[in-house]
Order: sequence, then structure tokens, then C-alpha cells
Amino acid sequence: GADAGLPAVAIRHLDFAYQEGHPVLHDLSLEIAQGDFCGIVGHTGSGKSTLLSLLLRFYPVPAGAITLHGMALADIANERFRADVGLVPQDPFLLAASARENIDMGRGLGQAEIETAARAAHAHDFIAALEQGYDTPLGEGGSRLSVGQKQLIAIARALAGRPRILLLDEATSHIDSQTEQIVQTALDELRGRVTIIAIAHRLSTIRAADRIIVLNHGRIAESGGHEQL
Ligand code: ATP
Ligand code: MG
Repeated sequence: GADAGLPAVAIRHLDFAYQEGHPVLHDLSLEIAQGDFCGIVGHTGSGKSTLLSLLLRFYPVPAGAITLHGMALADIANERFRADVGLVPQDPFLLAASARENIDMGRGLGQAEIETAARAAHAHDFIAALEQGYDTPLGEGGSRLSVGQKQLIAIARALAGRPRILLLDEATSHIDSQTEQIVQTALDELRGRVTIIAIAHRLSTIRAADRIIVLNHGRIAESGGHEQL
């Protein structure tokens, strides 16, 4: 497209405060190329979720402070924004409905699209093993799934919209190490096809990241590959 070669995400001298006099992000600058996998780590309160909230347009930012594929955040039409940016929240909300409905979310997707998304998220195998496969009810809030499996459903849900940018806020609660490995593999395989920004609480989750940003009190303290940090 016309935006080939432009960074998927460009952040330029971004300052942000929820309340005047209490800055949370200071002069943040960052460019993420299309298809790159960027991991974000940092201690609690360092501004990781705030950065994600700004990328999601929850709060306004000055024109030009954040651009996606060359367009200022505020100038992107809502429909386009929803199609381009997928979110895997920290505590995904699951419907008391089937695996299929939880991935589809009322978009009327076909089985092929749902299964492609589930396979990309590495959720297909555990869903297929449920007694009614994709039609198995997942219970109130996904009560019959583990935290990790809920995250895989949430990744499949986000990928089913075929986003260009995937934002992921890793679950803080315990994820069994096998599921964590699966999330790692899924993110690694998506590299090059989807731009990924993943907040991680464990460095292992973002082992495959092209770049890891360490936030410290709202500033980028370090940036580099997994081996360099
Ligand atoms: P964690 O690892 O605990 O999730 P974080 O890196 O995501 O932390 P943020 O949630 O971005 O950190 O918070 C950064 C700072 O902004 C903290 O000092 C926090 O108290 C403050 N903060 C976060 N959300 C709000 C809000 N809605 N209103 C006011 N201050 C907020
Ligand atoms: Mg947070």
C-alpha cells in the first residue's frame, strides 16, 4: 500500500500526565517498523499500560506525537482504527458462550476464518480437544478454561479481525509454563505479518522480540534485543 515502508508506530517526544504536575510519560520517542515484534517491560507504575492506553486512543495526545502507518492517531477513522488495531487485554472478557462465539464476537465470521485465527493463536488444539470442539460452551467468564487458555482465546479473537497492529497486555496472574510457551511461539510466528507490541511481566514471553523496551518512571531506560538486556 501507500504506507509501505512507513513505521507501523512512531512516537515522537510524547509527554503524558493524567493530572497536571504529575507526568507519567516523559519525552518518549520510539519507532516500530511494520511486522516487528516489540516487547515492553518495566516495574509496576513505570507507564506500560498508560502507553498502551494512549495507543488505543483512550486519552488524546498532541497531533504528531503518535502516528500509525504515517497517520496521526486522531486522524484515523474509527472503523479503520478498529480494523487495524487488535487488543489482547490483561484480563480478557469471555462470554458465557461457545469457543466459536468467543472468537467471532458477533462478526459473523465463517468456520475457516475462526479456525485460521485459532490456529495462529495456537488455540486450535485445545479447542478441538473439547467435547464439542468449537461449539463447547466455555462457561460463565470462560470458567472452564485456565488463565492461559483464556489468553489464547483472546489472541484468536484479536487475530480474527486481521489487525495490522496487535497490542498485548500479558496476564499478571499465573500462566502455566506450557501455555506460556505456546503464547511465545504464537507471537514469534506472527512476526513479520503483524506488528506486535507486547507488555510482558516475564522476559521469557518476549524472548523472540526484535526489540525490548525497558520503561523506568515513564522514560525509556534501555532498548535492545533479549541478549543485550
Ligand atoms: P503495572 O506493571 O503495575 O501494570 P504500569 O507500568 O502499567 O504498571 P501504569 O498503569 O501505566 O503503569 O501507571 C503509570 C503511573 O500512572 C502510575 O503512577 C499510576 O499510578 C498512574 N496512573 C495509571 N492510571 C491512572 C489513572 N487512570 N489516573 C491517574 N493516574 C494513573
Ligand atoms: Mg499495567
